[in-house]
Amino acid sequence: MSTKTKEKGNISIHTENIFPIIKKFLYSDHEIFLRELVSNAVDASQKIKRLSSLGEYAGELGDLKIDVSFDEKKKTITVSDNGIGMTADDIKKYINQIAFSGATEFVEKYKDKEDAQQIIGHFGLGFYSAFMVSDKVEINSLSYVEGSEPAKWVCDGSTEFEISKGKRKNRGTDIILHINEDSKEFLDKQRIQGILDKYCKFLPVEIRFGEKDESVEDGKDKEGKTKWKTVKKDNIINNPIPLWTKAPSELKDEDYLAFYKELYPFSEDPLFWIHLNVDYPFNLTGILYFPKIKNDFEIQKNKIQLYSRQVFITDEVKDVVPEFLMLLHGVIDSPDIPLNVSRSFLQADGNVKKINSYITKKVADKLSELFKNDRKAFEDKWSDIGLFVKYGMLSEEKFNDKAKDFVLLQNTEDKFFTIEEYKELIKTNQEDKDKKLVMLYATEPAKQDTFISSAKNRAYDVLKLDGQLDSHFINHLEQKVEGVSLKRVDADTVDKLIDKDEKVESVLSEDEKTALKELFDKAINDKNNTVSVESLPSDEMPVIVTMPEFMRRMKDMAKTGGGGGMFMMGGDMPDQYNVAINANHNLIAKILKADNDEAKEQLARQAYDLALLSQNLLSGAKLTNFIKRSVELSAE
Ligand code: ADP
Ligand code: MG
Repeated sequence: MSTKTKEKGNISIHTENIFPIIKKFLYSDHEIFLRELVSNAVDASQKIKRLSSLGEYAGELGDLKIDVSFDEKKKTITVSDNGIGMTADDIKKYINQIAFSGATEFVEKYKDKEDAQQIIGHFGLGFYSAFMVSDKVEINSLSYVEGSEPAKWVCDGSTEFEISKGKRKNRGTDIILHINEDSKEFLDKQRIQGILDKYCKFLPVEIRFGEKDESVEDGKDKEGKTKWKTVKKDNIINNPIPLWTKAPSELKDEDYLAFYKELYPFSEDPLFWIHLNVDYPFNLTGILYFPKIKNDFEIQKNKIQLYSRQVFITDEVKDVVPEFLMLLHGVIDSPDIPLNVSRSFLQADGNVKKINSYITKKVADKLSELFKNDRKAFEDKWSDIGLFVKYGMLSEEKFNDKAKDFVLLQNTEDKFFTIEEYKELIKTNQEDKDKKLVMLYATEPAKQDTFISSAKNRAYDVLKLDGQLDSHFINHLEQKVEGVSLKRVDADTVDKLIDKDEKVESVLSEDEKTALKELFDKAINDKNNTVSVESLPSDEMPVIVTMPEFMRRMKDMAKTGGGGGMFMMGGDMPDQYNVAINANHNLIAKILKADNDEAKEQLARQAYDLALLSQNLLSGAKLTNFIKRSVELSAE
């Protein structure tokens, strides 16, 4: 071929249908053209490196580097590499003949936008994504093969191309995009930098984009002080050897913490991390960090980044890692995750399933190791990891199997127990008549204090279950731990909370009891309450207001939208309480002996209001009346 002759030709026939498809379906994601071109440059660089190490390329390897640049006036973006390069024949083979029979059909099938960008990579259409933003694309290349002629290829996005002798002197390839009118936004430093940061930050070959100012020492002044000057330095946008590609044995805590900052610049330090590294039966590397989990679940999610051979793919890892692990941060890199197909396929994919259970196992093992090696540190971190562990137990059976041995229960004295340890603690004193262990818990210790101290008087232990997921966790414990039931500490009077079938004798006659019930029914005057006279120890409160455990759970469930069926009405149910009158209390005896009906009713109401007060149930006019009455009674 002489310099003058140009060869014209047609890009293989199928492409006629492809350009409109590329343009149409990728509309929302034009920016990925840069990812594709830089990835190709990386591939070309790695190929020459490999050939060299195999002894199939004897030339100088040089400093393998990729250059991204743009020219606002000429409206071009250029991606250059010194990789293997292409001869004219290579270009014809790899660029012109886009061999994908049936691709149109495929694209039609998966044309949701989500999937579209993945099709591009899959069909080796990466290069053609350049036409999403260009009127014309040029290739200038010189192959590594000795004696090759430089080649130049130009195409305007139609199926016609021109190929001629090029001018490139050094091995490698320039891809020059002549940016179209609609895509001028890409001729902007910030924009390009942004795209490179997003997709290319950890690509394995150095990528240079423009220059940056850097201060360097410039000798000393007369007083001996160091002088500084500003020089232009290459702006390398990537870290070619990210931490997850290194051997864990070479790394220190500082390295992991620094990498976390690199990923999430303004975040608090993570609690700990796991370095993933597996090559069979699938290939996966990565680092997962445990952040301090704050209350807002949703904000925490979407922080894991998914890479394929160091190319950023997405931070929506919903289908790749189990739901509860989305609370973790970090990176996963796997060439074995199929990124080219639809979501439903992904969920069914065998590799994805294996990856899922591998990560789950690793996370459980890490937690278990921390628990075993440093119980104290584990307890100290519990407020940050407890939510995560419980979430995992509730949502993943396999995780639950391991976590049941290290999940911690915290009591109202802030002591920590494993489930087994706790069963051991309460086994003598908190077994009911049916041989069930009753775990007592408080959801708001400050508000439930009266009940907690009643329980403690009986040497019962009370757990603190005040977390976001604890209402679900309580049900979970009852289902999974045999012979155990849980009761909120204010679910019943203390004698019935753990029903041991012990009878306290009543000091009142049956007639007195009937009179007492009538009196209180009248004084309370609330049809939602069930009043009963009980024989309780004399040091318990005179009146005790409780809401039965099943009722409260039903209401809780209705509140969180769960339940269904029989729980549907839960939301509209009025609050129903049990009111127990302590037949053995001095105040009750005093009420029965009061001078007249009016005085009796006033005292009954007072005793009832005190019970409400201890449950934080007194407010508004009822509270005002109580205070007035208290003043009157004190003045008497
Ligand atoms: P893929 O990268 O999936 O193979 P592309 O459409 O991105 O598909 O690229 C098609 C082919 O063109 C590549 O496989 C490679 O052979 C060739 N190619 C593209 N860019 C370069 C480059 N910068 N240097 C050398 N070869 C390249
Ligand atoms: Mg490619």
